[in-house]
Amino acid sequence: SYIKVIEEKNDELNAFLELNKEDAIAKAEEIDAKIKAGEEVGALAGLVFGIKANINVEDLIISAASKTLEDYIGSYDATVVKLIKAEDGIIIGINNMDEFAAGSSTETSYYGAVNNPAAPGRIPGGSSGGSAAAAAAGMCDIAIGSDTGGSIRNPSSHCGVYGMKPTYGAVSRQGLLDLSMSLDQIGPMARDVTGITLALDTIVKYDPTECTTLKWDAPNFTEIALSVKDKEKPLEGMKIATCKEFKEVTNDEINEIIDESVAKLESLGAEVVELSFDYIDICLPTYYLINYVEFFSATRKYDGRKYGSRIEEVCGPEVLRRIQMGSYISQKEFSGKYYQKALQARSLIRNAINDMLEGVDLIVGPTVPKLPHKLGEELEPMEMYAYDVLTVIANLAGIPAASLKAGEVDGIPVGLQLQAKPQDDAKIVKAMAAFE
Ligand code: GLN
Repeated sequence: SYIKVIEEKNDELNAFLELNKEDAIAKAEEIDAKIKAGEEVGALAGLVFGIKANINVEDLIISAASKTLEDYIGSYDATVVKLIKAEDGIIIGINNMDEFAAGSSTETSYYGAVNNPAAPGRIPGGSSGGSAAAAAAGMCDIAIGSDTGGSIRNPSSHCGVYGMKPTYGAVSRQGLLDLSMSLDQIGPMARDVTGITLALDTIVKYDPTECTTLKWDAPNFTEIALSVKDKEKPLEGMKIATCKEFKEVTNDEINEIIDESVAKLESLGAEVVELSFDYIDICLPTYYLINYVEFFSATRKYDGRKYGSRIEEVCGPEVLRRIQMGSYISQKEFSGKYYQKALQARSLIRNAINDMLEGVDLIVGPTVPKLPHKLGEELEPMEMYAYDVLTVIANLAGIPAASLKAGEVDGIPVGLQLQAKPQDDAKIVKAMAAFE
């Protein structure tokens, strides 16, 4: 039935780059047979997954939506894919995205833009725009995306689904094509909270082959989500903070919806306070400097010898800008000037956010400060980067963050972002489940 939905809607949405039709049907039949025979099945049995085109799946084309890798066939399963398959999740196909995950609109894909199913004619956000569109349009149950500066949360916000970037290191990045390795994190997107928690319970795992994964005895997120369901005041005892500076950079019509959501969290038992964050102005420059340098480094392997073409010769303008800027910034004569400064600024941001989270359980606010633009509208690079101001903070600080649908402005979904201390992912899950 999911294949039918994809075949029906994909021409219009362009959310899937490749379908894993035969394999998915075979897997579904295998699970069905097991269930009928009374055999045990995995925790994800029957759930249908879309995988972002920068995460390796054996035998499928993992192009990162770039001409550079148009012929690259995944030679192994990324750790997350292995874990999903081991729990009987069904991989139905590969989702469209911004080229190498560098973007906020999914318009930079070599394979064309993705349409927003919740607000047709507008961008779905990015870079996991194909994933969010697929989840929103019912083309899969759960989409696995990556988030370097908002790429799970931003499209989740624009398409009106749940999306979560776990604590840095909670999910293995082994098999993910790097955008910026100190910021990248894999996470789930889904139409309901249990879609998110079932995925988290499977993919939040220590991975001995990935040196940044955490040795963490994580709680059972699905149990936490289910445990709040019948309570009248499920958020009793929880303290949440809004932030003045987040409001100041956000459109009024979005702020109105966020205020209503905060009132709803309060009515669910949370205590609300307002805090201040001094570094909002340096978040984007800090993020992009680090992103350029790390991306430049990550792309040196695409020199045409092993993987497809030499990246500089075939990539789009945004990817080229990052490579050129990354190369420029990391020149020897600038030593101590740009990159070093960005790392210092990153520490300031991380410390300020962690200080805020000392006294409260969650920081809440808008996920994205403006509404998604219409497909075809041309934005300057800085206008595009402006979408990211509220999402890059969590990546710079390594903290968990999620987006849920707070409401709509003229039919266009608006997301509420929840952020917590490192490894306090469960608090986010609890609030999401209470809000649902
Ligand atoms: N929009 C941001 C960027 O262009 C974030 C991308 C991401 O999270 N992959 O870098």
